[in-house]
Amino acid sequence: MALSMLSYRDKLNVGRGQLYINGQWRDSSDGGTWKHVSPVTNEVITELAVGSAEDVDLAVKAARRAFDEGPWPRARAKERRAAIQRLAELVAAHGDELNQLQTLENGMPVSFSSYYAVSSEIAADMFDHHAGWVDKLGGETLPTYTGNDMQVLTLREPVGVVAAIIPWNAPLMLLAQKVAPALAAGCTVVLKPSELASLSSLRFAGLVAEAGIPEGVFNLVPGPGAPTGEALIAHPLVDKVTFTGSRLVGQRILEASGKGIKRVSLELGGKSPSIFFADVDSVDLAAMVAMGMVTIGLAGQGCACQTRALVERSIYEELVEKAAAMASMATYGDPFDPSVTSAPLVTQRQVDKVMGLIGSAADQGARLVCGGDRPEGDLALGNYVNPTLFADVDNSMSIAQEEIFGPVLAVIPFEDEEDAIRIANDTDYGLAAGVYTNDVKRAWRVARALRAGTVGINDYAVMPNAPFGGYKQSGVGREGGRAGIEAFTEMKTVMVGL
Ligand code: NAD
Repeated sequence: MALSMLSYRDKLNVGRGQLYINGQWRDSSDGGTWKHVSPVTNEVITELAVGSAEDVDLAVKAARRAFDEGPWPRARAKERRAAIQRLAELVAAHGDELNQLQTLENGMPVSFSSYYAVSSEIAADMFDHHAGWVDKLGGETLPTYTGNDMQVLTLREPVGVVAAIIPWNAPLMLLAQKVAPALAAGCTVVLKPSELASLSSLRFAGLVAEAGIPEGVFNLVPGPGAPTGEALIAHPLVDKVTFTGSRLVGQRILEASGKGIKRVSLELGGKSPSIFFADVDSVDLAAMVAMGMVTIGLAGQGCACQTRALVERSIYEELVEKAAAMASMATYGDPFDPSVTSAPLVTQRQVDKVMGLIGSAADQGARLVCGGDRPEGDLALGNYVNPTLFADVDNSMSIAQEEIFGPVLAVIPFEDEEDAIRIANDTDYGLAAGVYTNDVKRAWRVARALRAGTVGINDYAVMPNAPFGGYKQSGVGREGGRAGIEAFTEMKTVMVGL
């Protein structure tokens, strides 16, 4: 029987999606809709209401009222903390359902949707972590510098109405990374999920209502970049835009936000390196890490996927050979089958982009070791590309410079530590990097020399309390921990003459 996602849609009770504004579910004011298509089969799964400029205006005004007049920013710490904690508990209680919705919307296999970094579990933990900040957000008292004696204090106040825009690849974790600190700081929110993956966000909005968070504090307006996203980033009553997505849209947000001098946080793309020195514990393990990172789970469609493997010359050929052998670890098929390891690409357009970059790598002289083509049979209905490995890549090639977002590894040899650092940093991006070595001093030296927001030494994880974000064109600001919540506050200085 041909692969189909429709029975899972029915089992998960996915109906027509609506907008959630001021505590009410409603259709688009101009009747606009979007057809959600499964990347696994390209079947239409459901129809979603698309937020028009008028709907965005309604949502922002609801959030504005809730901020300017409502109880949320004024709530006692204990009360706000308890509400966010209730939301964390509801997300945890509906964890399986949310993970499955994520699988339905973006094809992430269930074997991976329970992986902590992209799961409902980390989403619940992000609400839990940020609930803990509510009664700890504070300022400083400062001594009088000169002149009249004064009491000088700083206060942390919520930044106001937040427009949160997220991509399609890990919606649960990504929405939590924005909504949790915004709510904890006392802000109100309008969330726009990706048009390619709104189903888990729609379910989440239902949980916000159940948690008893006052109306207008959280609003959800699904829809594409235009008109919905554009109307949101340009709205004059929005105080802050927090965005995760591509560099191109990040640039557009900076331009649009300039008009109202809005606060902006950007979590953008990456072209992350992993650096394997010859003294790694095991070349087999190194090859598995390198190839697994871009083929298992989201099939390389992660901002932090290390798509450039920099390998010390003396283990280079061995690692290339073993990584190619690992390509067969990735299995495609029904993402609800627990034996399936890897996702399709999100759209046909993304397949074309990845195949184009594969073609350019071959043209530019990289050595194709495996893959480079697409699977046949049932899988041809979906957006699959076979796990691909290029060796002898020069860092100047497009495949080493452009974010590929597909199951493609570029392997680059290096001669020594200095060479490795030079190649690793030779990119416009600076999101996440990995260093694999048993030499502790070298590990530290390299970690400090890398221009990246996160560096993993022999391991890597995403955690609610660890700041995450980019150097260079990978972003502006950090999410997670103290830096993450402070990004949703303004600092006020108060001086009292004595
Ligand atoms: P995208 O930039 O195409 O879309 C992201 C979001 O922006 C979507 O909701 C989209 O509808 C919206 N959007 C598009 N055009 C807009 C406009 N003109 N105005 C306002 N909103 C607009 O990105 P994508 O393809 O959904 O996601 C992949 C990208 O996200 C990759 O570059 C990836 O690296 C990045 N990403 C970064 C992180 C991180 O934490 N740094 C995490 C996940 C994904």
